[in-house]
Amino acid sequence: MATVGKVIKCKAAVAWEAGKPLVIEEVEVAPPQKMEVRIKILYTSLCHTDVYFWEAKSQDSVFPRILGHEAAGVVESVGEGVTEVAPGDHVLPVFTGECGDCAHCKSAESNMCSLLRINTERAVMINDQKSRFSINGKPVYHFLGTSTFSEYTVLHVGCLAKINPQAPLDKVCVLSCGISTGLGATLNVAKPFKGSSVAVFGLGAVGLGAAEGARLAGASRVIGVDLNPARFEEAKKFGVTEFVNPKDYNKPVQEVIAEMTDGGVDRSVECTGNINAMISAFECVHDGWGVAVLVGVPHKEAVFKTHPVNFLNERTLKGTFFGNYKPRSDLPSVVEMYMNKELEVDKFITHTVPFAEINKAFELMLKGEGLRCVIRME
Ligand code: NAD
Ligand code: ZN
Repeated sequence: MATVGKVIKCKAAVAWEAGKPLVIEEVEVAPPQKMEVRIKILYTSLCHTDVYFWEAKSQDSVFPRILGHEAAGVVESVGEGVTEVAPGDHVLPVFTGECGDCAHCKSAESNMCSLLRINTERAVMINDQKSRFSINGKPVYHFLGTSTFSEYTVLHVGCLAKINPQAPLDKVCVLSCGISTGLGATLNVAKPFKGSSVAVFGLGAVGLGAAEGARLAGASRVIGVDLNPARFEEAKKFGVTEFVNPKDYNKPVQEVIAEMTDGGVDRSVECTGNINAMISAFECVHDGWGVAVLVGVPHKEAVFKTHPVNFLNERTLKGTFFGNYKPRSDLPSVVEMYMNKELEVDKFITHTVPFAEINKAFELMLKGEGLRCVIRME
């Protein structure tokens, strides 16, 4: 290809300042270095984690930055040492990577790769500690090692899952973060048994991915908890059987759930990012066997507080990034679940906008409207 080894000039949505609308700019994207891959993004979608680092209220961020981590694309060129993917391969970028060599990658239990695990502070590439993006020679920083709000982006090869080329990229882009995260949090971490009760806190795409996991695991009751009543109508399509709005009660939601379930749910999955919801999600599981899983990204100063007796009474608290899936090894099979019609993905995509209107996706998420907004690059 004519672009191999050269700088590519293309459009990217740049976050210049916290909370200010993104600006579509012409950026230069340098060629991939050792163990890096340059990809052409075809579709990307907005996840709440992008919004936190754009607002930079609950999180520290750097600017100017190219956000975005949920996406699908095609490999344009590869750097030195890359053998796993080749130009033309269809890939999903992932915000947490898999080097394949470290103790975590070799463990069947962990996806917390020593080299490439999620790092919200790193804004440059590992190889030379520099950015591959620039405008008139001045660097524009990376986000989560993915920066998918750009027509072209550079990633470490360990942050790319090579997928079935038949999979429609405008749909499976949402599997690159939110839905797989929720699904895996239930199937791989909470592990509900057939007939069990599962509470899901937060009914955005991540939470409804968790609900989808509960349905696949054969849970008989799925209790959806959200402060936004508009979510309940949407959640009916995701196998959520009962709804609780904490605002409707003058007692803690964990007590409401304990009363509904004769002592507590068997499993709970928290997908809000709110510390109080995290505590409620833990305290609402049944003593003796209940397991709660935290997924939401907490405020930088949040502290989890509960009475230790809640643990002594044999409740378990867990947490996970990316639903415990190893991105390269496991994500292709999640795509296959969609291809085999085991997993429904289309219903998560409630809006689509052209790249020029990317700020609309932010407005929708801030208003709590819809689930995933897919941004078309062309
Ligand atoms: P979203 O905004 O679409 O959904 C969040 C939902 O939580 C909303 O419906 C909101 O009304 C609800 N909510 C907020 N506070 C609540 C509370 N106190 N009680 C009950 N409901 C409450 O967001 P999303 O994209 O689905 O992401 C959900 C969370 O998961 C975010 O915190 C995101 O950063 C996090 N996340 C984590 C991972 C991971 O790997 N751990 C991956 C992706 C996203
Ligand atoms: Zn995400």
